[in-house]
Amino acid sequence: AALYRVKSRGRGRGELDAGGQSPLARDLGAALVDPGAGGLAVHLQPIVTLADREVVGVEALVRWTHPERGQVSPAEFVPVAEREGLIGALGSFVVETACWSARALCEATGRDLFLTLNVSGLELDDPDFPDTVLATLARTGWPAGRTVIEVTESLVEAESARSIGALHVLRAHGLQVAIDDFGTGYSALARLDTLPADHLKLDNSFVSTITTSTRRARLLGSAVALAHALELTLVAEGVETEEQARVLTELGCPLAQGWLFGRPQPVEALMASLAKAPAAA
Ligand code: C2E
Ligand code: MG
Ligand code: MG
Ligand code: MG
Repeated sequence: AALYRVKSRGRGRGELDAGGQSPLARDLGAALVDPGAGGLAVHLQPIVTLADREVVGVEALVRWTHPERGQVSPAEFVPVAEREGLIGALGSFVVETACWSARALCEATGRDLFLTLNVSGLELDDPDFPDTVLATLARTGWPAGRTVIEVTESLVEAESARSIGALHVLRAHGLQVAIDDFGTGYSALARLDTLPADHLKLDNSFVSTITTSTRRARLLGSAVALAHALELTLVAEGVETEEQARVLTELGCPLAQGWLFGRPQPVEALMASLAKAPAAA
């Protein structure tokens, strides 16, 4: 097979070996055999109330340190996992690890945090997905009522009755659903009404513009009203500055995450910082 393998000039992008796999997919497949040793990890990013900056939840974000390339962004390797049949294994690893981590975090800090999990469209369309998630919750002892599945509108195919069905099944078991990346090119108002959802997450790219003009701030105000009208809890993503936090707070956005409040980090680090700041009574 080595004869047919293109030398890794582009370091893993778009080049196929004789088995039809890209080098990155091959390496990810190898990493998934023993995820810890393979450099895979799940980091948690705090989600806070804007009113008093109390940590109320965490988002699980997968991380991969490639043996030669170092940190690879999930924006790069998650699509590779989807294309090359590895998303099931990757998703199982993330859900399982995130549930154990969130449970340890809540036990250590005496908080009832919620946990949000990113799910790709392919995972959601897998008929076994709801049962797999429910089995993982049972195995890890993580409560369904504090679990939020994050999906993007674009990923939940309008035509896929199965994907929508999976969300209904999970909600019937007490899980919640978040629509991720709202305010990017893929959003459509009509889809907001047809997706069974509880949270609406404003994309980083939109949040980064809210302090640039009064028109942008008004646009944010209408997103707050939209979420309110559809009974969705609005969560602002990618909040980096005090000024962004102030505008969001003034316009009535209830929840936020971003570097201003905390980076995605290993559970042990978050445990240490939350232990220092006791939960409000
Ligand atoms: P996302 O779900 O919209 O996650 C938010 C992204 O914003 C994360 O990027 C996070 O690290 C980043 N972020 C958080 N706060 C800030 C901030 O203040 N400023 C800026 N500039 N960025 C911030 P990340 O971790 O690189 O993940 C990228 C995307 O990859 C995620 O977007 C999600 O769509 C996907 N992803 C991540 N983990 C998973 C996973 O376990 N499973 C699946 N299927 N997708 C995942
Ligand atoms: Mg997300
Ligand atoms: Mg997002
Ligand atoms: Mg996303």
